[in-house]
Amino acid sequence: MIQKNRLTEAEYAANFSDIHPPFETPDSALVAANRCLYCYDAPCTKSCPTGIDVPKFIKQIVSGNLKGSAHTIFESNIMGGGCSRVCPVEKLCEGACVYNLMGETPIPIARLQRYPTEKAITEKWHLFEKAAPTGKKVAIVGAGPSGLSAAHVLARAGVEVTIFEKEANGGGLMTYGVAAYKVTPEFCAEELQYILSIGGITIQYEQELGRTIHLTQLRQQYDAVYLAFGVGLARRLDIPGEDLDGVVDALKFIYSIRSDGYPAVPVGDKVAVIGMGMTAIDAATQARRLGAKEVTLVYRRTQAEMPCTEAELNLAKTDGCRILWLAAPKAITGYNGCVTQLTCSEMELGLPDPSGRRSPIDTGRTLELEVDMVIKAAGQTPFESLVESEGLEHKNGRLTTNAGAKTNLPGVFAGGDNVNGGKEVVDAVQAGKDAAAAILNFIYHG
Ligand code: SF4
Repeated sequence: MIQKNRLTEAEYAANFSDIHPPFETPDSALVAANRCLYCYDAPCTKSCPTGIDVPKFIKQIVSGNLKGSAHTIFESNIMGGGCSRVCPVEKLCEGACVYNLMGETPIPIARLQRYPTEKAITEKWHLFEKAAPTGKKVAIVGAGPSGLSAAHVLARAGVEVTIFEKEANGGGLMTYGVAAYKVTPEFCAEELQYILSIGGITIQYEQELGRTIHLTQLRQQYDAVYLAFGVGLARRLDIPGEDLDGVVDALKFIYSIRSDGYPAVPVGDKVAVIGMGMTAIDAATQARRLGAKEVTLVYRRTQAEMPCTEAELNLAKTDGCRILWLAAPKAITGYNGCVTQLTCSEMELGLPDPSGRRSPIDTGRTLELEVDMVIKAAGQTPFESLVESEGLEHKNGRLTTNAGAKTNLPGVFAGGDNVNGGKEVVDAVQAGKDAAAAILNFIYHG
């Protein structure tokens, strides 16, 4: 049965405590930092989408220059604090650390990155100066990582930035779509304020493109427009029973945990989560941590094709989630309007699809899961009708841009999830930097 308030306050607090706690003392950070070999042509830096100079910021920690270390990180990635908590570092910087080649534990780069950035945010270190106003104005649609990253680069260059955000808070998926044990809403709010503290950036909340604001109006009022509104709604399963009570969207579920508080979020006894990406893992592990007795992740391919990392898979297993490979949802049945059963088609793998992953093929056999809640985490659908109505070229809802982040409309740029369909926060930050560079070039050189 779906119910709220399953656990005691102490149990909620324990279940949702920081999964990657910071160093307990400055000395423990120093011990970890001192293992770094300061590699020439460092592979850790090369594997970071924002190109953070990892050996440099670690060396600055060792020399006691924490402000310099935070500056090194933020210079490449203004959301370096949040990224230190949410990045899948095992497939990025830490996965590339040379210690792996020696069969030894890699440098804990994320934890080290968290150390100076957290201090900078908490103690409000003023590390960047805004250039004198240039009289140029840029509108950004979306206050997520990509929009904020672009805004910070533009503000540093003396451009006045106005961000239009459809939600009531900034931060995008970092604020709304990540598990609470990775990054808290309080931290997201502090990080946002830290980014805005440079000055010259205004956010207008609850302003939605296509509803309260339109591109034609923004193009008239600003020197350039950057579209960074991310990807949209949860992809529908398009199977019978999808509208029964107890079928919920993973992002809404994750958002409610972050905004309503743990006891207020209803969760079932037996939960099925459809999908195997990071959002699916975040939803499944949090369902368990809210008190669900059984959680099953349902994925139509195998472990070899799963979009989540090994570390995320292991977290789900450690939390007691079961994984059902080679199963695709076929129908949801219910009683009195509420979910009681999920029927899945048993799949097998065929030839690789255009992405290189082997395609699942229906064997014609089915299996049933007794469930009282189904969480949909099978990806998100781009805002196809929105971009169409605003006159933007796109491919299946993903905006089409050239190498300089330019859309088909002069003066309108785009980047991040609304172009690539959804990647990591760190990729969105880099997209924002690239777009800001292209916008500066456009507004000064045409
Ligand atoms: Fe340090 Fe590892 Fe990067 Fe080398 S690869 S610079 S050891 S963190």
